[in-house]
Parts: sequence; C-alpha cells; structure tokens
Amino acid sequence: MSAESLPFIPPAKPIVGDDERAAVDRVMRSGMIAQGPEVAAFEQEFGAAVAGGRTTVAVNSGTSALHLGLLAAGIGPGDEVIVPSFTFAATANSVALTGATPVFADVEPDYFCLDADSVRAAVTDRTAAIMPVHLYGHPADVDALRAVADEHGLRLFEDAAQAHLATWKGAQVGSFGDFAMFSLYPTKNMTSGEGGMVSCATEEIARMVRLLRNQGMERQYANEVVGFNARMTDIHAAIGRVQLTKVEGWTKVRQENAAYLDAHLEGVVVPPVADDATHVYHQYTIKVDGDERDRIVTAMREEHQVGSGVYYPIPNHQLASLTRYAEGLELPVTQQVAREVISLPVHPSLDEAALERIVTAVNTTVRAGA
Ligand SMILES: *Cc1c(COP(=O)(O)O)cnc(C)c1O
Repeated sequence: MSAESLPFIPPAKPIVGDDERAAVDRVMRSGMIAQGPEVAAFEQEFGAAVAGGRTTVAVNSGTSALHLGLLAAGIGPGDEVIVPSFTFAATANSVALTGATPVFADVEPDYFCLDADSVRAAVTDRTAAIMPVHLYGHPADVDALRAVADEHGLRLFEDAAQAHLATWKGAQVGSFGDFAMFSLYPTKNMTSGEGGMVSCATEEIARMVRLLRNQGMERQYANEVVGFNARMTDIHAAIGRVQLTKVEGWTKVRQENAAYLDAHLEGVVVPPVADDATHVYHQYTIKVDGDERDRIVTAMREEHQVGSGVYYPIPNHQLASLTRYAEGLELPVTQQVAREVISLPVHPSLDEAALERIVTAVNTTVRAGA
C-alpha cells in the first residue's frame, strides 16, 4: 500500500463504546437527567481514584472548574495570579474572569512547566497565588513552586486538565494545591463529553464551589451567594463513571506507546520525564528545529497520513485577548518552544503498525530536511 492510501492516524481519538452508551441509556430511562445521583457517585469515585482521595466537586467544564475554584479560594479584583503562558488560554482566562490579573511567567525547556525562578521574579505585592499547569500530562515541579509560594505567603492552585493519574513523588497531581482542576473534555485522557472536576483541599472550598455551581444554593431557594449554573448532568456523569473504570488501563497503554516512540525516534528531542514524576502522556511532545517545524507537520500529514498537533503555536501572552496583561513581556523559553513543539499521536487506540508508521513519518521527514 502506498502511503497515500493508508488510513489517516488522528492526533487524538476519544474512546467511547457500548458501556458508555448503556450508561447514558440507563440515565435517560431513569427520567432524572440533570445533576443527581450519578454526579454524586462520580464525584466520590473520581476523588478516590484520581484526586488523591480529596473531596471533589463536578462541574460542566474544566474552564468552569478553574473559574469556580479561583472564586471559591477568594481570588478577585486586585489579586495577581502567576500562570504559565505556554498553555491553553483557559488557564489565564479563568483568572481574568474573576477580575484578578493573570501574570505570565516562563516555563523550563524540558517539561514545559512553570519555572520556579521565573515565577519568583514575577512576584509583586499583589501576587495572591501561583497556578502551574501539568502540561501534556507531566507534573510541574510542585516542590520548587511550593517553596516560592511559602517564601512569599502565596497560595498554590493546579491546572491538572491534562494530567489525570500523573504523580509527583508518588502523590497524585491534583492533591497539592488549595484546589486543582481536571478537565473531562473528549480529547483529554478520560471524558464525560464535557465536564470538569475541582479537587478541594478543604471542605470550605468544596462547599463554596458547590454553591457557585448552583446559583449560590445548597438548599433550594435559600441562595447564599451570587452563583452560576455550572452543574454537570447525570448523563455526563454516567459517561465519566464508565471512563473512570478504564483510564488506568488507557494510561498504561499511553506510557507503553511513549516508550516505543522514545526508543525509535531519531533526530528529534523526545520528552524527558523528571525523576520525581510519572508522565501520563496526554500529549507526546517532541522538539524539532523551529524553522523546520511547519514543514515536518505538513509532510507527516500529506506524505504519511500521520496527524499531529501544535500545542500551542501562540503563547498566551501574545494572544490578542490577553496581551493587555503582558505589555512588553518577553518569555524567551516559552517563545522558543512554541516554535519547536510537535505533539505526536500517543493515544491508546494506536496499534503496532500505527506506531511504526508514526516513527517512519517522523524519522523520514526530519531526515529529509537535514
Ligand atoms: C482543556 C484544558 C482546559 C479547559 O478545560 P475544558 O474542559 O476544555 O474547559 C484548561 N487548561 C488546560 C491546560 C487544558 O488543557
């Protein structure tokens, strides 16, 4: 078969099957489809399996989880929250939506997560918190960031959208910050369709997130604060509960796929894993020569039918929506890696033939430019 006639290998592929369909059907038949017993069960199960045993509150998206987590932690106008620029815009958006100011710090070049020295340099009188992202499924150095937070009396939050089951020194990410967020969007390591989870360090934060997601009510029509409708439905929770029984197995396959790519790719920088970390490979992200990156991505797709992704081509501090928080700001590592990264397919649906095709696509295309 010529490369042109091979099936396209997509960069991501949500796995949703009969079990999820049956779970949705069960909820539809029950007649109770909004937030109810499925959501409560999902929160329990997710907290125990993914969030280090913490109290976990379900909401309608990862972005809502960040926004409500920040509000519940008391972040608002006048506060600054230090975030990476090399991430999905939801990280900074959620800070801005509270009325607080996102302040961008640089990442380190190996794991693409917040660099503690850059964070330290960004601290001002108004800094309230640091919110690292465990990018691509590799934990940020929470010890180094915790040290900066302690030096300056700051709080630590986590954007763990991409890092279900990743660990740092044996503890699950999502168990370090005052709150942590997980996304359940379809391309994440597990999904509920759309959805998010807030893992909470205290019952006080958990209660406030519950109030904020439901118009400020714990008891009906006894509204205590001004809140949103950010509830998860039982339909989504039922999907998420099925996915939760599978995410550990899928993660092992992602790690095996990554090990295969590590062993066979040539002429590119493969993603290292810190000694204290386990990586769950939401993305398997290589670095190539920045001047060659777009050519490689195109050739892989057109000549080899291998999809890939660039996450993220424009750093947040250079996005039209966010530049006003970053006037004159230069983040050298962020700006460089944004030109160099390519995320290869690593998802659990890849078979050995697909992995071989990915390796061939990368190695031939990179060599062709050398
Ligand atoms: C996906 C993602 C979000 C937002 O989650 P949604 O569920 O899509 O709202 C936030 N931060 C990061 C790093 C993400 O990857």
